[in-house]
Amino acid sequence: MEIITTIKQCVEYLETCPRPLGLVPTMGALHNGHKELIKVASKNDSTVAVSIFVNPLQFGPNEDLDNYPSQIDSDVEKLKNLSVNLVFLPSPEEIYPDNFSTSINVGGMSNVLEGKSRPGHFNGVATIVCKLLSIINPNHAYFGEKDAQQCLVIEKMVSDLNIKTAILKVPTVRDPDGLAISSRNLHLSKSERDSATVIYKSLSLAYKLHSEGIKNTDFIKKSMSELIYSVPFTKQDYISIAKPSNLEELDSIDCEALVSVAVFIGKTRLIDNIYLKSAY
Ligand code: AMP
Repeated sequence: MEIITTIKQCVEYLETCPRPLGLVPTMGALHNGHKELIKVASKNDSTVAVSIFVNPLQFGPNEDLDNYPSQIDSDVEKLKNLSVNLVFLPSPEEIYPDNFSTSINVGGMSNVLEGKSRPGHFNGVATIVCKLLSIINPNHAYFGEKDAQQCLVIEKMVSDLNIKTAILKVPTVRDPDGLAISSRNLHLSKSERDSATVIYKSLSLAYKLHSEGIKNTDFIKKSMSELIYSVPFTKQDYISIAKPSNLEELDSIDCEALVSVAVFIGKTRLIDNIYLKSAY
């Protein structure tokens, strides 16, 4: 496994690697969610590249950039045990030199949900993903459905800009109690971790109510919210029930819907989502 920190070396190394080439972009603190993306990539692709870069552009001024978990040594050890050919580990200066001035704004559905709660977040995400796709030029890039809106924004960018990489989505990996695995779970105290299970429980409640024939989204959102606030440390940021293709909010679920939640557990903000399929 090659560990490469500069763009030039990365491009040169990849020229020698067999195709198809798969890229798994990450911000490190690797866990079983990332591992699943890498596993899928290694089934599809002859060469697998993993990038680890905590992208400052996607964090707002009052967000957790300084606090974001960094475990480079243990990340590299974990990757050695997987089918990974290249780890791209650039510094912020390598990616964003002093004269860097471009920002990609996908518009549309990037302005709701995470985009509304975290202004500028998706500009940062789109800019780094576009840059990584340009440097690595992969046939496939892998993203987790845990960040469903991120998948949509990247798919839109790739389509709008005629980028040749195929975007492949991997289902959310969860702990046995349902909590979606996230690097940010490391910030939870034991009692906060207990409370955090309410996030998936609220999504499961939406699933259950919908499967019982309830279509009214206000009713489902209210029931989810009551459940979320029934445990300590929680503060709801948003609950959304929207059309999966464009994140337009739905009054009634008459077809497929994407239910998304963002909840603070103490100071840690966690997101999750679930798809509801059409009529039962
Ligand atoms: P991150 O390091 O949090 O930026 O995540 C890197 C990639 O892993 C993104 O495409 C995430 O959506 C994906 N990912 C993170 N957590 C999970 C999970 N629990 N299940 C599946 N994919 C995940």
